[in-house]
Amino acid sequence: MIHFTGSRADRFRIEAAVSRFLVPLLTILLFQMPPSSKAAALASISLQGDGHTLAVIRGRAVCLDAAGGAVESLFGCAESISRFGFASKDGRLYKFLPSDTMTAVFTDTRVRQRELQVTARLHAGDQLEIIKVQSVKEGKLYDIFYYCEVCSITAYTPGLCPCCRNELEFREKPQ
Ligand SMILES: [Zn+2]
Repeated sequence: MIHFTGSRADRFRIEAAVSRFLVPLLTILLFQMPPSSKAAALASISLQGDGHTLAVIRGRAVCLDAAGGAVESLFGCAESISRFGFASKDGRLYKFLPSDTMTAVFTDTRVRQRELQVTARLHAGDQLEIIKVQSVKEGKLYDIFYYCEVCSITAYTPGLCPCCRNELEFREKPQ
């Protein structure tokens, strides 16, 4: 026969009560939430780091057509296309999150022509959110960036220098 001391028995009873009532209560609350706030709850969970994993993938950036398929993109994407994907060396096709402003780097033909290594957060549905884009030449990694010599300004996407309005210069620097 097992005898609980008073405090152990009380703790046991409290824990049993917690699992018997609190867990179903939380489950009911989650299911009773309107879909929008449920999405918000799930989004805040993913901010804590469990909703995505870090991915380092080598391959090439490609333009995506309206159906999400890769189109030949070495020399130019159709004007209407604003979404990009990433064709990995092992034959998978990833998509970049539509809200990811760093994909602007893929509007540069020079970047799409190179073998790249993308460091990104991997979201559901094989969607990538860029952390870093590097080029690979003869097995060596190069940082890709855009630079204005006059103003010493570095940017991660092509375009005009925010200071002197000259075209930013494409640079690659060995790591
Ligand atoms: Zn400048």
